[in-house]
Amino acid sequence: MLKDEKAVVVFSGGQDSTTCLFWAKERFAEVQTVTFDYGQRHKLEIECAAQIAKEQGVKQTVLDMSLLNQLAPNALTRSDIEIAEGEGMPTTFVEGRNLLFLSFAAVLAKGIGAKHLITGVCETDFSGYPDCRDSFIKSLNVTLNLAMDYPFVIHTPLMWLDKSETWELADQMNALEYVRDHTLTCYNGIKGDGCGECPACKLRKAGLDKYLQRRNRMTEGGRLV
Ligand code: ZN
Repeated sequence: MLKDEKAVVVFSGGQDSTTCLFWAKERFAEVQTVTFDYGQRHKLEIECAAQIAKEQGVKQTVLDMSLLNQLAPNALTRSDIEIAEGEGMPTTFVEGRNLLFLSFAAVLAKGIGAKHLITGVCETDFSGYPDCRDSFIKSLNVTLNLAMDYPFVIHTPLMWLDKSETWELADQMNALEYVRDHTLTCYNGIKGDGCGECPACKLRKAGLDKYLQRRNRMTEGGRLV
């Protein structure tokens, strides 16, 4: 428990970062969020993040990162690029995104006296994004500390969890229903259970079904087995 310390959560309003927000709120005295506006296809994503921050009583700073789209056009920001996953990087990949986001988050965090940065990156379900890997996060942590002469600690509570375990973590914090109903993961901009068709919805649903089946098995007969 680090109840006297401040933390900043990199926050998109999706399942992963909302689970991280609950995780941070259990551990730190003060939690703020930072959301990056990089011209996402769906402005609803930013609105959704703002709504969650408000409901959870945490401050949200929205930073304009529209330059990212200028540098790296991709399917999340450009309606003329199809979302496709196949050979090579998915078209949703944004080159260097976590490097940039975490660096800006660190500048903001130091400014408010927060050492702790929380991000929902995950190596388990990762689609080949190099800046979701644990080795990258550890390397960046050292770099940020040197760059700003400040003892940042980057926390990645989801790094080794699969989607079903991320749902389990939310459930352990009594936040499963909230995360299920209030977050936006769907590439088609539909909140909660989403469109059911896009890769993000499929991954999210497969994880939820797997976890709920496991939970049912564990609580059969009203006891943990
Ligand atoms: Zn969807």
